[in-house]
Amino acid sequence: VDSLMDLFASSANALAIQLAHAAPDRSHPFGHAKIETLATAGQGLLIGGSGVYLLVEGVRRLLSPEPLRLAAVTLGAMAAAALVTAALVAYLGRVAARTGSSAIQADAVHYRTDIAANLAVFAGVAVTYATGFTRIDGVLSIAVAVYILASAGSLLRLGVRDLIDTSAPEDRVRAIEAALDAMRAAGEILGYHALRTRVAGHTLFVDVHIELPGDLRLARAHARSDRARDAILAVEPDAEVLVHIDVERDEPA
Ligand SMILES: [Zn+2]
Ligand SMILES: [Zn+2]
Repeated sequence: VDSLMDLFASSANALAIQLAHAAPDRSHPFGHAKIETLATAGQGLLIGGSGVYLLVEGVRRLLSPEPLRLAAVTLGAMAAAALVTAALVAYLGRVAARTGSSAIQADAVHYRTDIAANLAVFAGVAVTYATGFTRIDGVLSIAVAVYILASAGSLLRLGVRDLIDTSAPEDRVRAIEAALDAMRAAGEILGYHALRTRVAGHTLFVDVHIELPGDLRLARAHARSDRARDAILAVEPDAEVLVHIDVERDEPA
């Protein structure tokens, strides 16, 4: 909507992504991934704010339509900006899909809403010229505002989901269970329980208890736990895995 705000939002996002990938340190031993989550939620709020503004503007223009004041040169500049933005959105979408970065996804959503707002202005101008119906401007603004608010809502959901430690999607949890089931079928572990996953930005945290015979030597038991970790890493290469060893039937599954 406003290119100065765009610049600020994208810069803040880029900074957040960089900070989020910093190595764990003494005060943040689990890493900094949630900085990215915070940026995503923040961008959701920012986009939501522009949605509310557009909604109010739309209602205002619907109630008291104004004559067109846009010059052809303004429209030309907007068309150029929309094209550049569309290319940016396509690029960001690809990067987000490759990295699973919620902040980059947030950036892509943000620019998509900008394009929608621009298109609405074009359509408004075109319809007004063709029909002289000046209220269309307000109607389109309200429609775009609804779209923007929905986008902002999905970004907020994405950010909040991570902040409240939501588990990985069901299919990814099933893949981890399948890897551990295969170890049990091969007789490497007697069983497992307390499998927990949580998503934090680009990192998936996994912890699980494996059950081993009580008379197994520590060195061998530890090797089994390392194999369980490797089996999980085989399906979730970027995961942080913690395996706890339980003695068989020591506690209820
Ligand atoms: Zn246990
Ligand atoms: Zn170890």
